[in-house]
Formats: sequence, structure tokens, C-alpha cells
Amino acid sequence: MNALHIVVAGAGGNTGSHLLPHLARMSEVARLTVVDPDVYEAENVRVQNIDAPDVGQAKVLAQAARLRRIRPELEVTARRERIEDVPRGLLRCHLFVSCLDSRMARQHLNEIAWRLDTPWIDCGVLGSQSLVRVSAYTPSGDSPCLECSWSAGRNGDYSLLEQEYLCGAVHGMGSPTLSSAALGALAASLVAIEVAKFARGDLAEWSASRQLIFDAGHRVAQVTAERRNPWCRFDHRAWSLEPWVAPPATTTVKETLRALGSMQVAGHHFVSEMVCPGCGRRDKAPRLNRPLARCAACNRRMASSGFGALERLEPRCAGEFMRLTLAQVGLRAGDILTSGARHRLLVEAQ
Ligand SMILES: [Zn+2]
Ligand SMILES: [Zn+2]
Repeated sequence: MNALHIVVAGAGGNTGSHLLPHLARMSEVARLTVVDPDVYEAENVRVQNIDAPDVGQAKVLAQAARLRRIRPELEVTARRERIEDVPRGLLRCHLFVSCLDSRMARQHLNEIAWRLDTPWIDCGVLGSQSLVRVSAYTPSGDSPCLECSWSAGRNGDYSLLEQEYLCGAVHGMGSPTLSSAALGALAASLVAIEVAKFARGDLAEWSASRQLIFDAGHRVAQVTAERRNPWCRFDHRAWSLEPWVAPPATTTVKETLRALGSMQVAGHHFVSEMVCPGCGRRDKAPRLNRPLARCAACNRRMASSGFGALERLEPRCAGEFMRLTLAQVGLRAGDILTSGARHRLLVEAQ
């Protein structure tokens, strides 16, 4: 496949910074979208493929500049936000690569990949045991997804997910602080080799639905075939998107609901109030709980207070949302509005 567009989620972690230059050097890759909300810190220089002057810079901007130096004609899009917050329609691509270290974010990317019917490669490193993991997934009939291998139970993935959700501090495979630059670079090379197979259309060789664990400490590689789990908690459904032309800056919620009946944005809620997790400042404004806004007092990302959260807007319950434009509510071109079983891709203009 030529002129590939690859979306890389996580530019910072131990692997992403090593992987991006490999992808930029592949002639089949025409476009890279890099998604990461964070800024490089001084300690990152030790384990990541960055230089001292990158410290203090947004990871995606530092990486985008590097990629353009490697190959000026490469089309690079830098999105400085969490993968969960990027309008899903802007993530349409040929392949996702995840260099994320949070279970929640990876679960989210798994869902996006299936909704958009797009293959994805996930990777992780476990520094304390010198392990590298590379898994590839291809949405189709009965192929397995990330969650197919997740377990319930006290120390299972779902309970770790719950802890991550509550305290945001649990790391599984991929804790960047424990891993060396060499291990991250090894993971990056293994991922890049899988991407090259995908680009060549070498699908028999492509490790879709397989997981590679490379134990660098003992020099042992193990490949396991994953199976679709009939009890998987994820529904594995793909969406068919219908374009819906409605400039967010001038289209009101009222007009939208009149046309669509109802709307929801998967992964988000509509909330009446945001709260700052740092200083507790409250900001009353009806909007989507996408933490784009920063606190006016301490500059942290505002979060939903949970007060009056609505999963779906309908004319009878949309109240204070009705008079607002889609942009005022925080919707952007590329967002996907779901009404019942239909999914509209919000398009700015024809
Ligand atoms: Zn599954
Ligand atoms: Zn604050």
C-alpha cells in the first residue's frame, strides 16, 4: 500500500519517540498524525529519543519538527491532546499505532479502531523484566480485539482499569520510568518492521491477531495467536459514517436536534459545569466534557464535575444547550454524532 496515513498515539513514552523517525523514513508512508497532550521533561532525555533542547516543548511539536527535518515532503499533523479527545473523524487513516502507557487510552483506541474499521498495532515495554510486547489487530468478522484477552477478577485488566480511572496512577506494561532507551528502541524497531509488512500488503506475514513477546533479558521470543473471545465485553461493531454538513460555529444545538432527533458523542458526556481538579474552581457552561478548557486560576485542564451529565441530548432535555452553537458546546468538525444506530460525521463545508 502506498501513500499510507498512520496515526501514532503517544509521542512521548519510551517507544513513540524512537518509532516516529523509523516511520518517517518509510517511502510508503505519506502522512503521519501524532497525538500526545504532554510536554517533554528533563528526565525524558535519559530514556527517550530526544535532545536537551526538546525539554519544555510539546512532545508533538518537537517530534513534528524532527520528522520534517528527516523528510520535508512528509505530511505531518501534530495534535496536542489526548487520543480520547480528538474528534474521531479526524483519526481516519490506514493504520493506528499505539505507544500509549495507559490501559484506558489503549481501550479507547481499540474502540476507535473497530468503529473506523482500521487495523492497529499496540506495543508496550516492561522495563523491570526487559520485556517488549507487540500486538496487532485487524477488525473483521471474528478477529480478536484488545479486550478479548482482558481478564476480570481482582488483578485482572478490568480491575486495573478501574484503579487507573480512579487514581490515574496505575501503570501496566509500559511504565516509562522503568524502561531503558534501548528497550524502547527495540520495541520501536519491532513495531516498524510490522508496519513495513503492512505497507507491503504482506498480510499473510503480517502479524494481525498475533502477539509477540520478546524477552530481551533471556533472549527469548514468543508468538501467540489471539482468539476472538465470545464473552468479550466490547461489541466489535464498525460504524458506517454519513457526512453531515453543519458548520459548528453557526449551527445551533436546536437545529441539530431538529434534524437528527438526538445526538451523542461516543466517549463523552454533555455537562452543565466543569471543575478544576487543582483549585476546585467551577465553571458553569453547558458543554461536551472534552477537557480542552484550562482553569483560569491555575491553568490545569478542567474536568467534568459530573453535575447534570447527559450522555445524549434530546429536544425535551437539552434545556440550556438548545440556544448554543455546536462550537460553543465544544464540538468540532470531524466529530461523529450518533443518533440511535446512525453515525454522522460533522463536516464544516461541502
Ligand atoms: Zn474483543
Ligand atoms: Zn484551578
